[in-house]
Amino acid sequence: MKVIHSVSDTQTYVRELQMSGNKTIGFVPTMGALHKGHMSLVEQSVKNNEITVASIFINPRQFNDKSDFDNYPVNHENDLELLDKAGCDIVFLPSIDDIYKNFVGFNMDFNGLDKIYEGEFRPGHFQGVVDIVYRLFEIVQPNKAYFGLKDFQQLAIIKLMTKLANFNIEIVSCPIVREKSGLAMSSRNLRLSKEQFKNAANIYRLLIVISNKLKVGEDTDKYCQFFIDEIEKIPDMKAEYCVFCNPESLDLVKKINKNSQIIMCVAVWCGKIRLIDNIILVF
Ligand code: AMP
Repeated sequence: MKVIHSVSDTQTYVRELQMSGNKTIGFVPTMGALHKGHMSLVEQSVKNNEITVASIFINPRQFNDKSDFDNYPVNHENDLELLDKAGCDIVFLPSIDDIYKNFVGFNMDFNGLDKIYEGEFRPGHFQGVVDIVYRLFEIVQPNKAYFGLKDFQQLAIIKLMTKLANFNIEIVSCPIVREKSGLAMSSRNLRLSKEQFKNAANIYRLLIVISNKLKVGEDTDKYCQFFIDEIEKIPDMKAEYCVFCNPESLDLVKKINKNSQIIMCVAVWCGKIRLIDNIILVF
């Protein structure tokens, strides 16, 4: 496995690969502190492409909360070991200055998607995500790029950006990988205390409880309230939002229709750690 730090070296390497024949490049962008969720993306890329490139870059532009950025876990040694074992070919580990040095930006109309749900509580977050993913796509020029369904709204925005920017890249969405308790794996879980880690399993437990209760014809509002109330009963936990929406348009769904697919998305504070999760419901 090759570890490359500089943007220009990565570009040269990718150009050489492209000239050397028909090698497909799969790309997995990450912020590091890798866990089994990230590795499931890497494994899928390794299976489906001749070359897999993973990036590790904690992107300051997507953090609306400076202390979240300052405290974001870093574990390069372990990350490189995991990537090597999984058969990753190249790890791109750039510096902030190098990555944004010649970046002119990509202005896009988010069609309001950046202002709702995650966007409402994390102003500027999705512009930061678009900046880095656009820049990484420019540099790595993959055939396929792998993203987790855990960040559902991010995935929708990246699909839109890929289309608007005319990148010839297939966006592959991968299922959420969970702890035994059901808690969605996340790098931020490393910052939870033992007690918080245990309590945080209630997020997925409640998503399952609600998915078993909710029936066609019912209003979703009371289930949002149920989620918020139940989370509030747990020490040190507070729900930031709970929404039911259409998985394509992300429009809010207030009433459950027959033969519909709906995604329930939540954000919950566990002490000072903010966790997100979602579940897709089919009626
Ligand atoms: P991050 O390092 O948090 O920016 O995540 C990098 C990629 O891994 C994103 O596409 C995430 O959606 C994905 N990811 C993070 N956690 C999980 C998980 N538990 N299951 C599947 N994919 C995940």
